[in-house]
Amino acid sequence: MKKETPNFNDYPIRVPSIKTIDAKANALLDELKKVKDAQEAKVVIRKWNRFFQKVETEIGVISVKYTLDINNPKIKKAQDKCDEMRPLIANYYNAYQKILTSAPYRKSLEKAFGEYLFKMYDASLKGFDEKIIPDLIKENKLVSEYDAVMGGAQIPFRGETLNLSQLGKHLSSADREERKEAAIALDKWLGEHDETIGNIYDQMVKIRTEIARKLGYENYVELGYIFMGRTDYNAKDVANYRAQISREIVPVAQKLYKDQVKSLGIQNPQYFDYALRFKSGNAKPLGDEKVLVKAAREMYEEMSPETHEFFEFMLSHNLMDLTARKGKQPGGYCTFFPLYKSPFIFSNFNGTEGDANVLCHEGGHAFQAYLCANFKIPEYMNPTMESCEIHSMSMEFFAWPYIDKFFGDDADKYRFAHLSDAIEFLPYGITVDEFQHWVYEHPEATHEERCQVWKEIENRYTPHKKYDELPTLNSGRYWLRQGHIFSSPFYYIDYTLAQVVAFQFLVEDRINHEKAWEKYLKMTKCGGKYPFTELLRRNHLRNPFEEGNIAKVIKPLKRILASFDTEKFN
Ligand code: ZN
Repeated sequence: MKKETPNFNDYPIRVPSIKTIDAKANALLDELKKVKDAQEAKVVIRKWNRFFQKVETEIGVISVKYTLDINNPKIKKAQDKCDEMRPLIANYYNAYQKILTSAPYRKSLEKAFGEYLFKMYDASLKGFDEKIIPDLIKENKLVSEYDAVMGGAQIPFRGETLNLSQLGKHLSSADREERKEAAIALDKWLGEHDETIGNIYDQMVKIRTEIARKLGYENYVELGYIFMGRTDYNAKDVANYRAQISREIVPVAQKLYKDQVKSLGIQNPQYFDYALRFKSGNAKPLGDEKVLVKAAREMYEEMSPETHEFFEFMLSHNLMDLTARKGKQPGGYCTFFPLYKSPFIFSNFNGTEGDANVLCHEGGHAFQAYLCANFKIPEYMNPTMESCEIHSMSMEFFAWPYIDKFFGDDADKYRFAHLSDAIEFLPYGITVDEFQHWVYEHPEATHEERCQVWKEIENRYTPHKKYDELPTLNSGRYWLRQGHIFSSPFYYIDYTLAQVVAFQFLVEDRINHEKAWEKYLKMTKCGGKYPFTELLRRNHLRNPFEEGNIAKVIKPLKRILASFDTEKFN
């Protein structure tokens, strides 16, 4: 079976035909309407899944090939066509789910496929109606507008013109003057684009609120949760969780920041100082893509037979495109082609410690996709986002014993920075989340009011951030550059939830590796069969929403942090 899987380079670029989709989907829907029992329904469901897995794969291949070659007009055209197709496909799925959820044989299908599948259908039906399609298209356009503003940034810096990611390197330079200059350049650029970006966001908030009201919700919050596929927790649970992070994690993060600037020897530290963790510079990977992939290959081979098989499959089928080059979209991601049962990892290696991290983090995502590739129910292949990030963030920690392969003498430096970053991320994560709740609960607020609220929340959770001489950032505008706030409302908290679970694997792995790995493997093989909190319960992991659990998770981490001899890093 595996041998027949084609190599990524040989995947054909085929734009699915709207006509074919239309005819096939309608024929299958008609057939489904006529079935008499669960047995007959299953036959149609199989046909439906087979057909749409092929369509999804074709669309997926085009979208990946586009990110690899964004200036290729042929692929761009294909990509645009696929974009237009998505609402249409959503519409067919809506009809399909409507038939299945109201069928007289629903109970027997639930027995065969699990109740959760139908819960997901029920939720997704609550979040869709044909009448919102034009609004969804408008919303997508606004997201593209935001991406265009950010992607097209041209920031003058020391005689050069840089984009945002190029400027990022200077923001974390070991030279303080350089960091400061870069921060001033960024602040100026943000100030010049404040009105444009603020206006785009205002339109987004209004249109999302409009969509929510058309579907019968008071505001966008509840609908946003439905769009995230959350069936087992609500905004109140998340608010309680944020309160725990605020109480238990914020002080630990503040202590880490304090120690950091002390060892850097900086007086009156500013926000741009925190990007440099050690006076001697951040951990450096041992080499480029070739060196790091070799390290990852050894790591996955030693880790387990399953990871070994997985990574060899990735390599032999050319399922990774890792190094930055001209014409490639920025960023990194992992995706999956159901027809070929193949994950794919995209990244932009640039010689920093992040490169090694990609091979662990995206490797974790890809490993899960690989393990669940043969699921009969495609809806169960991919979990909701907070569960997805457990696979990847935990893999980052299971990589700890092998980190020397990537960083040599800098391995401990990397480990300490990795854990510190992960802890420090939580207060920022809840800032982004709390801000969005406020925004969608107050859709009539002005841009200026939103910025004031951001500043207030930011001061509460990350009080170390100082923006003297940076008037734009100092006026509560840091969020303008946080893409998730624009493109994926309410998504951000998922990273923090997963992080809290991944911490548990780090701790357990150090106590009993075999047991921890077995637990991870069992959890990962569940794929998306269960909602987040049930996945945790079934795998004996602490639920971040439960009062007291954040305190329990952070306690052993403090001990791990204290075990590093940080003096030697400077
Ligand atoms: Zn991820």
